[in-house]
Amino acid sequence: LVPRLRPFASTVFAEMTALAVRTKSVNLGQGFPDTDGPRGMLDAAKQAIDDGINQYPPGQGRPELLDAVAQHRIRYGTHYDPASEILVTTGATEGITAAVLGLIDAGDEVIVLEPYYDSYAAAIALAGASKRVVSLTQREGRFAVDVDALRAAVTPRTKAIIVNSPHNPTGTVFTREELAGIAQVCVDNDLLAITDEVYEHLIFGDAEHIPLTTLPGMAERTVSVSSAGKSFNCTGWKIGWVCGRAELVAATRAAKQFLTFVSGAPFQVAVAHALRTELDWVGRLRDSLSEKHDRLAAGLTKAGFDVLSSAGTYFVCADVRPLGYSDATELAWRLPERVGVAAVPVSAFAESGGYEHLLRFAFCKSNEVLDEAISRLHQLA
Ligand code: PMP
Ligand code: GLN
Repeated sequence: LVPRLRPFASTVFAEMTALAVRTKSVNLGQGFPDTDGPRGMLDAAKQAIDDGINQYPPGQGRPELLDAVAQHRIRYGTHYDPASEILVTTGATEGITAAVLGLIDAGDEVIVLEPYYDSYAAAIALAGASKRVVSLTQREGRFAVDVDALRAAVTPRTKAIIVNSPHNPTGTVFTREELAGIAQVCVDNDLLAITDEVYEHLIFGDAEHIPLTTLPGMAERTVSVSSAGKSFNCTGWKIGWVCGRAELVAATRAAKQFLTFVSGAPFQVAVAHALRTELDWVGRLRDSLSEKHDRLAAGLTKAGFDVLSSAGTYFVCADVRPLGYSDATELAWRLPERVGVAAVPVSAFAESGGYEHLLRFAFCKSNEVLDEAISRLHQLA
């Protein structure tokens, strides 16, 4: 493996899932749901296969999906030309990586907000760029953006920032004030923003998803990335999309065509159908995830963890110190053997200190699975 990719030889999610399988543990590590998406969407995929939609689709994406994404984004007050301002990708992962490869040059810097999803650092390394890490700060039980620290991290070589909200692993949904602060730093320093909005629909209570691109001065400098996996319980389909001004999308497409060329044709048809007709289903998914969040948070609290607030995503973070542990990474690797539960250490998403005491648990699982995990975790006390 070449040196620039050595830190990325394997992902914590794959390793923890392998350990969970080996130890027959309840896997609350890797975030994927254990039920299928809406029936109509599954049937639409089968129908598309039967209808012979099985060869290369257009490079930009199938027209019905480009139209459906454009329609969907209107909910945020944003308008995109499906022909030039939207690109279908192989999941958000490829969308983010292709945007980085198409827009960031070797030697440029990209800011990431820590803790950050692992693919960002890998994408930056693939581009031969370097990353500037700005830590979120824990304030009143949630993780907040420190706009002053962000501003201080910008150098003349900084080209872009990657912003993920709702945020994995913390479950933070950035507020309008936080996003306005990020936007101001971008505008003042002429930075691009690449947003990861894969959990856009999975928000609880009165949290609101506000795309960064809707803030003043951001539309022309933001590449908004999302995907179907989380909204429609189809993480294995890997259908995502990128929206932005035509020249940003063209640059992303230039890289995408040499990564995967195009993305799975029948799944594009089915996701187009889901975006058009299954948003009520997504609303019910969100309500059920909100209940699951509460169920797991209450169970973890009872088991002795100090649970941090999460306003969205699949995840909740918990402090292991009240149970007498100080190193959550060490605990995470021993937990499957000891009690038969897998979780992911938040330190795996970070390179600075400050997260050593936190475990991330996924609650996108059936209630029986969550209850079994909680009852096993009681053995820790
Ligand atoms: N971004 C975040 C924050 C994620 O948690 C994930 C993982 N599911 C992804 C991107 C990857 O999304 P996709 O499967 O659409 O590539
Ligand atoms: N996004 C999922 C998580 O954070 C995992 C996806 C993956 O395995 N790369 O758990």
